[in-house]
Amino acid sequence: MHLTHNPRVALVTGAGRGIGKAIAERLAAHGHTVLCVSKSSTCEAVAADIVAKGLKAKAYQVDVSDPVAVAKACEAIAAEFGAVEILVNNAGITRDKLVMAMTEQDWNDVISTNLSSAFYWTKGLVRPMTRKRWGRIISISSVTGVQGNAGQANYAAAKAGLHGLTMTLARELAGRSITANAVAPGFITTDMTDELPEEVKQKILSFIPLGRFGSVNDIAAMVDYLASEEGGYVTGQVFSIDGGMAI
Ligand code: NAD
Repeated sequence: MHLTHNPRVALVTGAGRGIGKAIAERLAAHGHTVLCVSKSSTCEAVAADIVAKGLKAKAYQVDVSDPVAVAKACEAIAAEFGAVEILVNNAGITRDKLVMAMTEQDWNDVISTNLSSAFYWTKGLVRPMTRKRWGRIISISSVTGVQGNAGQANYAAAKAGLHGLTMTLARELAGRSITANAVAPGFITTDMTDELPEEVKQKILSFIPLGRFGSVNDIAAMVDYLASEEGGYVTGQVFSIDGGMAI
C-alpha cells in the first residue's frame, strides 16, 4: 500500500538506539521533522545522522521518567515547533525479577519509565495537538503487556497500563481527529536480544510460531502506517507484532 505522509512534527522517545532509532529514521525519511529523545546523549548521534542525509531532526536529552524535565522540554518544543503532531512513546527499560524478589525501586523505575512517561509527554504536548485537529499518539508496548510473563510483573503492569491509557486517549481525543494506538512487539533483534545465550534464544524461538525474531523495521512499519494519513480511522487498538506469540 502506498502511504500518504504530509510533513509533520514527530517526537520519538528512546530514539537513541534499537526500535526507537528505527522509528525516528523512518519517520524522517517520510519528510517529518523528528525530535529524538533519549536519556543519554545517543539521541544526538541519531539526529545528526538524519540531518546529514538532508532530512530534519533535533535531539533532546531528557529523562522521560522525570515529570519536571519532560514539562520543560515540552515548553521548549512548543516555543520552537508549535505542535508535535506525532508522539511515539517508545522509551522503556526492564528490571526483571520474580515478584518475591522484586524491590519497590524495581517496580517504581519500570512504571515511571515505561508508563508514567507516556502520560507526561501526552499531557505536555496534547493541547497544541488538539488545536491542530490532527494527531497520532503511538505507544510501544510488549507481548508481555498482552499476556504477562514470569519475572516481569512491573514491566507487564506498565505495558498493560499503556493499553488502558491508549483506549482512554482514543476516546478523549477522537473529536479532534487525534488517534491513540499501541504496538506490542514480541522478540525483536536488538543489542539486548543479541546478548542472550544461545540456549535461551532457542527456548524463546520455540514459543514463536513464525520461528524467528522480528526486526526493528517490522515495528517501524506498523508505526509508519499508524502515523500516516491512511491510519486515521484506526484508534484505541493494540497491535501485536510478535510472530504469532500472543495468538
Ligand atoms: P533499547 O534498550 O535498545 O532502547 C531504549 C531507548 O530508551 C534508549 O534510547 C534509551 O536511552 C531510552 N531510555 C531508557 N530509559 C530512558 C529514560 N528514563 N529517559 C529517556 N530515554 C530512556 O530498547 P528497545 O529494545 O529498542 O525497546 C524499545 C521499546 O520497545 C521499549 O519500550 C521496550 O519495552 C519495547 N519492546 C522491545 C522489545 C525487544 O525485543 N527489543 C520487545 C517488546 C517491547
